[in-house]
Formats: sequence, C-alpha cells, structure tokens
Amino acid sequence: MHCPFCHTSETKVIDSRLVAEGQQVRRRRECTSCSERFTSFETAELVMPRVVKSDGSRQPFDEEKLKSGILKALEKRPVGIEEIDAVMVRITHNLRAKGEREVSSRSVGEEVMDALRDVDEVAYVRFASVYRSFKDLNEFREELDRMQQEAE
Ligand SMILES: [Zn+2]
Repeated sequence: MHCPFCHTSETKVIDSRLVAEGQQVRRRRECTSCSERFTSFETAELVMPRVVKSDGSRQPFDEEKLKSGILKALEKRPVGIEEIDAVMVRITHNLRAKGEREVSSRSVGEEVMDALRDVDEVAYVRFASVYRSFKDLNEFREELDRMQQEAE
C-alpha cells in the first residue's frame, strides 16, 4: 500500500489484528521512507449488486422495498416474522454470492419466488403473478394446477 503522506510505494505492516468481531482486519503501517504511520482497514466486499431493470435503468438494491413486497405477498398468511427474516437473509445472501456488481431485476424476482415457494405457496403465487406478470390467465392457471398436483 502506498504511503498517504509521501506516496512512496513501500510501507510495512507493524501490527495486524481482527476487529469488528472478526469482520475486519486493522493494520498499522509504517512508511519505510518518511516513517509516518497510518492505519488501513480491510473488509470482505459484501455490497449488494445494483439492480438492472428491464428498461436498462440501474437502481441501488433496495432492501426495504423488497421486504415490503414480500410482506405484501405474505399478508394474512401463517408465516412468522422470523421466517420472513430468514427469507430476506436467504435472498440477499444469494444475490451477494453471485459476486456480480449488477443483477437483473428479473433474477432478483426469481430469487424471491424460489424463497417464497419454500415458505408459502399462496405468497409465492401472489408474488409471481405480479412479478413474472403471467402472460395470460391460462399460464397463471397452469401454475396453480401444477402446484395443486404437487400438493396432492
Ligand atoms: Zn511516507
């Protein structure tokens, strides 16, 4: 790492420790040229990818918006808040795990549908009918039939 004082390229690490419950590495460094000391922090990059909408526009990932969509799909369903939180964790984990800087809004929707399908089929259909915008009523009915057959 370059020295922020004299910009020489040689600095040495004089101390290194885990901080923030192991989420971060803090390093004390000393410049071999001007002897100034400074601190650097290293964290794993876990930023959420940006969302590319179907019209090509980009938006920051909006966890609140996603959650409200999921809550809406789960309205009056017998699903507890802890399960909902687990769904959110699963979705955000999967999106981060892709390691992409951008993901399509479609793949966000697919993640949500996958997660909801495991938790509550009604919520899944509610969400899917809005998100996937079934091309016509037949397609929607086919999906319902498929689910019914699986349930039997
Ligand atoms: Zn220096």
